[in-house]
Amino acid sequence: MDTLKVDVAVIGAGTAGLNARREVEKRGGRPVMIESGPYGTTCARVGCMPSKLLVAAADAAHALDHAPLFGIHAGTDRRIEGAVVMQRVQRERDRFVGFVVGDTGKIPEEQRLHGHARFTGPTTLVVDGRVRVDARAVVVAAGSRPFVPPPFDGIRDRVLTSDDIFELPDLPESLAVIGTGIIALELGQSMHRLGVRVAFFNPFDELGPFTDPDVKRTARRDLSAELDLRLGIEMLAAKAETGGIRLRWREPGAPPREEIFARLLVAAGRRPNLAGLGLETTGQPLDAKGLPRVDPETTQCANAPIFFAGDASGHLPLLHEAADEGRIAGANAMLWPRVERHERRVPLAVAFTDPQMAMVGVRYADLPEGQHAIGSAWFENQGRARVAGRNRGLVRIYGDPASCRLLGAEMFGPGMEHMAHLLAWAVQSRMTVQTALSMPFYHPVLEEGLRAALRDLASNLRAIGGCRPEDLAEAPGT
Ligand SMILES: Cc1cc2nc3c(=O)[nH]c(=O)nc-3n(C[C@H](O)[C@H](O)[C@H](O)COP(=O)(O)OP(=O)(O)OC[C@H]3O[C@@H](n4cnc5c(N)ncnc54)[C@H](O)[C@@H]3O)c2cc1C
Repeated sequence: MDTLKVDVAVIGAGTAGLNARREVEKRGGRPVMIESGPYGTTCARVGCMPSKLLVAAADAAHALDHAPLFGIHAGTDRRIEGAVVMQRVQRERDRFVGFVVGDTGKIPEEQRLHGHARFTGPTTLVVDGRVRVDARAVVVAAGSRPFVPPPFDGIRDRVLTSDDIFELPDLPESLAVIGTGIIALELGQSMHRLGVRVAFFNPFDELGPFTDPDVKRTARRDLSAELDLRLGIEMLAAKAETGGIRLRWREPGAPPREEIFARLLVAAGRRPNLAGLGLETTGQPLDAKGLPRVDPETTQCANAPIFFAGDASGHLPLLHEAADEGRIAGANAMLWPRVERHERRVPLAVAFTDPQMAMVGVRYADLPEGQHAIGSAWFENQGRARVAGRNRGLVRIYGDPASCRLLGAEMFGPGMEHMAHLLAWAVQSRMTVQTALSMPFYHPVLEEGLRAALRDLASNLRAIGGCRPEDLAEAPGT
């Protein structure tokens, strides 16, 4: 077996792995990046980008459905060409993937290995049983994969996940979506708006990322008005038939029901790609689920020369976190046995549903008991949201009573992808509610809704007295 000696072996050529390799090279080290699948990253190939392309198509269809509110009617030949929708998703997706594949192909060949990497010791790997890699340190950037729970694993070849749905040549007539998390809602709502008959199933009474009961309730009320949500059900059976998938389930206190769907999308969460990696040979302690304990500030596993980055780290499975963790892991893999701590960015997550969902900073569930105040604002009567007929949602911002600093927020409403950024930047710069209110707000904009929540927070923090009079000036109808 050939042996390759390197400074750092990086498992995975996704966003985290590419960033880790680059950092090692930048620091004068000799990396090798090992990839078992195609180049192009999960984000570009089957994640962020194709999902947002589908959402964009659904937005276009929804704009037509919404137009009569304004007295505008699209002619009688309004139709959705499913094949054309999917062709654009695939064409634009391929363009994004092409850029990544092109850049990855420019990495010197001696720094790239193709095959499945498996640990045989703390810093030794075997790739496809043909190459042995001896490294000073290893970065595990192996990503994650969709989890297919029973009873759907029994019909795995007929089940769609986010790995295959973007390959459909046309929109299906109907779609059962298993799960009501971010990926399930983005894809399922898009399909619904593109004219597919969609039903969501979840054995748990959960919807989206929220932990704040008021935001949860609002999201559930508003989304139930549009989507067929079957929460808290017991899934009894899933059977593949010629015409599709027959589901049998029971809602609480009701007799079992059956329905056939042309296609079935399982979006029931993702699991780090750690099985089959031989982690048990590294001598590092693994928890009951076979996961290592990883310090998010160093990405290191215990004191070992093994670093975990991106979805494989079990931290926050988001693109910008994968990029950050790749850089941190690459840097610390080079520095080992010394490691540097990196203060992480304020957590920020957005779901591109309509209305959008966003989480910023400390979640409601993690607020210190009795040591927080909350400011709320509803979007029903928010000026700009009403103008656009998008007046739904609730924002709840959390603050610290001792310092009046902003802690975090859970947000459901129009334009939240933008407002979540404003708030995340404010939280990260340790801004107080008084300073946030002293910032300029244009009129009429959705951000005035954010200001209403900040004012409510200032009032509940009893910080109104510390605000300048002009920061509390009323603008009727905002
Ligand atoms: C449908 C969907 C929508 C999403 N939307 C968003 C979004 O809007 N915003 C956002 O921030 N995030 C989004 N995400 C999440 C985001 O895509 C991921 O967090 C990110 O791509 C993870 O990057 P990574 O480098 O950790 O993993 P990946 O890009 O998956 O790279 C891991 C690589 O490791 C390889 N590998 C695994 N095991 C081995 C092995 N043993 N040997 C060799 N190679 C191996 C895999 O083949 C893979 O190529 C979305 C994800 C999905 C699925």
